[in-house]
Amino acid sequence: MAKRDYYEVLGVSREASQDEIKKAYRKQAFKYHPDRNQDDPEAEPKFKEAAEAYEILGTAEKRQTYDRFGHEGVSGNGFSGFSNNEDIFGAFSDIFGEVFGFSAGGGRGGGNRPRPGSDLRYNLDISFREAAKGAEVDIQIPIEQECSDCDGTGAAPGTTPEICSQCGGSGTMHQSQGFFRIAVTCPHCRGAGSTITDPCDECMGRGSVIKDKDLKVRIPAGVDNNSRLRLRGEGEGGLHGGPPGDLYVVIRVESDNVFERQGQNLIISRDIPFVDATLGHRLEVPTLDEPVHLDIPKGTQSGEVFRLRGLGLPHLGSAHKGDLLIEVKVKTPTGLNSRQEELLKEFAEIEAKKLSTKAKGFFKKAKNKVMGE
Ligand SMILES: [Zn+2]
Ligand SMILES: [Zn+2]
Repeated sequence: MAKRDYYEVLGVSREASQDEIKKAYRKQAFKYHPDRNQDDPEAEPKFKEAAEAYEILGTAEKRQTYDRFGHEGVSGNGFSGFSNNEDIFGAFSDIFGEVFGFSAGGGRGGGNRPRPGSDLRYNLDISFREAAKGAEVDIQIPIEQECSDCDGTGAAPGTTPEICSQCGGSGTMHQSQGFFRIAVTCPHCRGAGSTITDPCDECMGRGSVIKDKDLKVRIPAGVDNNSRLRLRGEGEGGLHGGPPGDLYVVIRVESDNVFERQGQNLIISRDIPFVDATLGHRLEVPTLDEPVHLDIPKGTQSGEVFRLRGLGLPHLGSAHKGDLLIEVKVKTPTGLNSRQEELLKEFAEIEAKKLSTKAKGFFKKAKNKVMGE
C-alpha cells in the first residue's frame, strides 16, 4: 500500500510552521489514541501513521529531506518505520506527557530537575469574635524543606550521589503492556535517578527535612466559615531550585452563644414581657462592642424584628458593615397571683367594653349612612 503524504496525514499545508505541525499531531494523537478508541480497529493504524508523519515533519532537518526527496528520502535512513510501539512512545514522550498527563519523568531524565513545592492546607479554628474583629494568629506548620546540610542531594556533605545504574539517571523504567509502554518509577533508585552510598546525617539521605515553620496569619475582619486565605510561597519548599508552593489557610469560625450570623448581619433574639411589648420599653442589647439601647415602641408584636444599621460584621475589604437584627419574642406571663389575675380580668372586661362600643359606633355610622341616602 502506498504511503500517504505526511502533510496530508497531519492535515497541514506544506508551509505549516513547526508549531502548527506539532499542534496538528497532538490533535491527531489525541483523537486516535488507542486508549480512547478501544472499539475502533482503524484508530491504531491511524495513530501510528500520524506518529510516523510527526517523527519526520516534527524535526526541521528530516522535514527538509522529506520535502526534497519524499518518502524515499527518509526511509532507510533509520528515520522511518518504527519497529515496535515502544519507539513511538519513546520518541514522543514529551508530547504524551503534555497531552495525557503521564509525565512521570517520561525519560526526560534526572531526578534533579527543579520541582515546585506542593500547596498545603491548614485548617484554622478561630473564635466568632476573632472573625468579627480580625486577628493575628500564630500558627506552626510542619513543612518539608530542602535539607541545607546536603543542599537537597541526600548525600553526605563532600560526597555526591551516583547515577543509578538501572535507569541511567532518568528515574523511570519502561514496561510494555500490550500496545502501551508505561513509565514506572525505577525500583532501584525510587525515581531519584541516583543512588547514595553515604547518606547525609541530617536528612538520612532523603534530601529534605520536616521543620516547623512559624507563621503569622492576619485574619481580616468579617471572614466567614470556610474562607480561604492564600499565603503565597508559604507552602512546601521546592526541590532543586523549584518554587515553593502556597499555603491555604481554611478558616473555621466557632459559633457564638450570643449572636447568630447571616452573611454580614448579626441576629439576636430577645424575650420581652407582654407588658413591655404593650407599653413600650427601653431594651439593652449586646453588640460586638458596648451594649446599646433599643426603644421598643408601644404595641410591639411578638416576632417583630428591629434593625440597628451598621452594627453587624464588616464586609471584607470594605468599610461597610452589616446590620444587627433584634427579633423580639413576647412572653406570656405564667405563675400569676390572684391580684394579677384580678387585674387582668378587669383589663379584659374593659377591653370587651371597648370593643362593643367600637362595634356600636360602627353600626351607628353605617345606619346614618343608610338613612342619609
Ligand atoms: Zn541532607
Ligand atoms: Zn534508577
